[in-house]
Amino acid sequence: MNASYENTALRVDIEKMKAYYTALREEELCDCEGCQYYRAHVRQAFSKIADYFDSLGMDIAKPFHVSYVELKKENKMLYMACCYVAFGDCGLDFSQTIDGAVLTRAGACPDSGVEEPHIELEIQELTMCYPKEE
Ligand SMILES: [Zn+2]
Repeated sequence: MNASYENTALRVDIEKMKAYYTALREEELCDCEGCQYYRAHVRQAFSKIADYFDSLGMDIAKPFHVSYVELKKENKMLYMACCYVAFGDCGLDFSQTIDGAVLTRAGACPDSGVEEPHIELEIQELTMCYPKEE
């Protein structure tokens, strides 16, 4: 058997993914402003990416970690990296471009808290309008 250096494709256990994301409750996720805004708006803002996530059984609105900055002058939020738990495997060099954003293995993100064997994926970068409430 050849060593799988070219094992870049992402394969996931869709049923396990769906079960995990369905069971993951809002209260278990970060309640800071940027994360709440992301979860509330990412699906409408990036429907193609959301559809791709859905095809994997992964809920785009339930990242376990989000890195962002508010671009105050532009009334935007820049989400540099949003990290997700996935049950499956892919090469360390896995990279999938979806609607201008890039999905890869997650680099530096905090512990997901998931005990079962899993991989961590991150999507970057996503910019969303962040209108000021008057
Ligand atoms: Zn947060």
